[in-house]
Amino acid sequence: MNILIVEDEPEIAELIQLYLGKENFNCQVCADGLAAIEIFKSFQPDLMVLDLMLPGLDGLEVCARIRQQPGPKDPYILMLTAKGEELDRIIGLSTGADDYMVKPFSPRELVARVRALLRRSLRQGGQAPSQTYRTAHFTVDLDQRVALQQQGSGAEPIELTPLEFDLLATFMSYPGRVWNRAQLIERLWGDEFFGDERVVDTHIARLRKKIEPDSSQPTFIKTVIGVGYRFEDES
Ligand code: CA
Repeated sequence: MNILIVEDEPEIAELIQLYLGKENFNCQVCADGLAAIEIFKSFQPDLMVLDLMLPGLDGLEVCARIRQQPGPKDPYILMLTAKGEELDRIIGLSTGADDYMVKPFSPRELVARVRALLRRSLRQGGQAPSQTYRTAHFTVDLDQRVALQQQGSGAEPIELTPLEFDLLATFMSYPGRVWNRAQLIERLWGDEFFGDERVVDTHIARLRKKIEPDSSQPTFIKTVIGVGYRFEDES
């Protein structure tokens, strides 16, 4: 798997390369947006770690150009931003990035997010697509539409409405990803939605009541202030 790291701060670029290199990813690094576009064409990365603020072209522009002309491989893009307010803004722009991380971030978490993205690509393009998502406490079978939660030594079925099931399955398809309300609505309702985005919060609250040990202090479905939600379950 090829990963292109586009980051103009050398220490951060080196750190990312070190951690991804340890996982046997084949990495190339560059420090500005124009170079990124050039290297992209020859290197054909499966995934790009793309800093937002770059000399030359910024990360948004790089992302837009690659999405317009992806070439043989349409890479996953994990965007790095300097602070939370920026994150809020760029998610609102629907940039075409697949995931976002705010600096400073833990390199281990970056590796986990990269793996989650690439697993998704294997699932979509592989011979035998998995119809089951598993995390440490949950199993969701998309064919049978059954959701199980680990309780003590066994797994118990969770009684969910179809919408709650889809919501949980969406979260489990990509643990650790930050979803804003619009993205969840697109997954759950498609283009058929004309209501208030905050309806998502209502369904989240109901799902939390069913799966969280303490729904006032969620351990699985975390609120990301100013953005939306993130599902976490160590596995
Ligand atoms: Ca930068």
